[in-house]
Formats: sequence, structure tokens, C-alpha cells
Amino acid sequence: MNDHGSMRQTERLAADAAGLARAADILRDGGLVAFPTETVYGLGADATDAEAVAGIYAAKERPSFNPLISHLDSFESARSQGWFDETATRLAEAFWPGPLTLVVPVAPSCTVSDLARAGLDSVGLRVPAHPLAHALLERTGRPVAAPSANRSGRVSPTDADHVLGDLDGRIDAVLDGGAAQVGVESTIVSCLGGTPRLLRPGGVPREAIEALIGMKLEEGGEAGSGPLAPGMLASHYAPRAQVRLNATSIQPGEAALLFGPGAPQGVEAAQATLNLSKNGDLVEAAAHLFSYLRQLDASDATTIAVGPIPETGLGEAINDRLRRAAADR
Ligand code: AMP
Ligand code: MG
Repeated sequence: MNDHGSMRQTERLAADAAGLARAADILRDGGLVAFPTETVYGLGADATDAEAVAGIYAAKERPSFNPLISHLDSFESARSQGWFDETATRLAEAFWPGPLTLVVPVAPSCTVSDLARAGLDSVGLRVPAHPLAHALLERTGRPVAAPSANRSGRVSPTDADHVLGDLDGRIDAVLDGGAAQVGVESTIVSCLGGTPRLLRPGGVPREAIEALIGMKLEEGGEAGSGPLAPGMLASHYAPRAQVRLNATSIQPGEAALLFGPGAPQGVEAAQATLNLSKNGDLVEAAAHLFSYLRQLDASDATTIAVGPIPETGLGEAINDRLRRAAADR
């Protein structure tokens, strides 16, 4: 896939042993496979492979990066990715497998890529109940990042034909498991200490969750919902340093985040320099974005100067995130 979601042959795979084996192989090779869950069809990629995850954004033409839900075959697998406090453990034991996503702090052994977490120190995890999803995840043996398998701005797909209507030629395969059962997305609850928070209503009713844990869920806290109160979810990763965009020259002591083959004026004097993609590949750049921002932030420079990045393909999402980082200060 190039950064504009170039054409590829999309295989329609049958819901049998051969289809599952093929789908798992494609995922392990860094490809994109749409698959049914009990909510909607998800567009899956190996969550541990940032370039594969970048491919999801390219195929969907999503103009911004938000954290994706990583799907797992069992609570046991989820436990090696995230840290479950008592409440999160009770929710997982009661509602998994099923249409509940839990946002929890990353575990030390977490392998979900920065890009799939949008740079956050938390991770969104779900164990789906759909038998095909379960079988695919078991065979893949890795967390699979999967937002809904539609192009950005269109409705979530509930069967393989919907998926192909939007993404034929842009993804490697769709595992055809007939119609999804719920048709609404998973309920998302964050358990990051303090009272759990309902980030999105969905397939598991709020009342069922509140009855189980014996308390009311806090409201909202999703991206862009105002200032951060203590204990509230950070809506996105923000570097400590200031961010200066479209820098064509670097001031002494600044850290430089570059894109493409050129070397801006003054780069020799930079505190630290990283290039998102020397040959100008936006998929590679997206895959590196969050880890490079963190590395440059750790250099102690007061400002990260970012070279110009084209506003095409994945460049739109990259620039969106950088603009937010710049506006945070
Ligand atoms: P979807 O569009 O169904 O893939 O759901 C993605 C949503 O999951 C995001 O917009 C977030 O609301 C939520 N989410 C996933 N992971 C996290 C996380 N680490 N922190 C906060 N929210 C998350
Ligand atoms: Mg969606």
C-alpha cells in the first residue's frame, strides 16, 4: 500500500479453516484484513506493527489519528498488554468475550505499537465474542488493531458486501462471515484509576456495567471534551516541548523532526534530529510519528521544529496531530 491507499487485489475469504489460515497469514505479514465481530466488521492489522497500523489509516482515508482498539483472543492475552485493576478485572470477567472495550494503562510487556495507541500510555482492549473473530485472533497470535471497516465518514459495515463497497482494492482481504449481529459499536469504558468512565455507549448497556460494579460511571472524557480534570483521560498525546511547524530552518538548540531527503538550514546545530522518512514515504512517517516525538521531547530541547510534510494521503492525519501538539502550548 502506498500512502494514498493504492489499488490492490482484495480477496474474499470463506469462513472456513483455509480462509482463516489465509487471513491470519496476511495479518502476520503486515497486511489488512476486514473481519466480522459481533458489533460491526473491523478493519484489522497487526497492532504491534506500526506500518501495518498506518495502512489502516491510509485505506480508510482517516484524516486524524485516534487510538484504536486492539482485539485479543482471551483475557489472558489482554493481561499481557494492559494493567487491570480490580474493577477492570471484574468487567473483563463479566463481559468478555463481548462488545465491551476497556481502556487500561499499558502493561510493561505491552507490544501494541505507539501508533495504535496514538502515543498514549493507555491501551484500548477488547475480546470479541464472534466465533470467527475469535478463531482469527487465536490463529494470528497477536493483538489486532481494528476500527470499523469503512471509509472515513461512511457508516459502519455489517456485512462483507458493505466492506467491499467501501474498501475493495484498498485492503488485502475480507473474511466473509455473513451479517454482524449487533450493528452498534462496542461500549468503551476507561479504567485508569478512580471511577471508571463511559467513553462511548455501545453494545453492553451502561446499566449492566453499573449494576456489576455497584457505582455510576463517570461521563465522557473522549477526545476534545474540554480541559483535563485530575484523573481524567488525556485526549491525546502532547509533547512537553513546544512544537514549531513548517520549519525550513532550525535554530540552535531546537530538536528537528524532518521528513524527506532535504536538510534544512542550521540542522547541524540541532539538539537532536530524527527523520520520519528519508525517502518521503508517508506510511513510514506515520509509523514513526509518536515514538520520534517522544524521543525528541526527551532530548530536553524547548522546541521541536518540524519540517514541512505534504498535506496528501496520510500527511493529513500526521499534520493534524502535529497541529494539535503545536496548539497545546
Ligand atoms: P473505534 O472507532 O471503534 O475503533 O473506537 C476507537 C475509540 O476507542 C477511540 O476513539 C477512543 O475513544 C477509544 N480508545 C481506544 N483506545 C484508547 C485509549 N488508549 N485511550 C482512550 N481512548 C481509547
Ligand atoms: Mg467507525
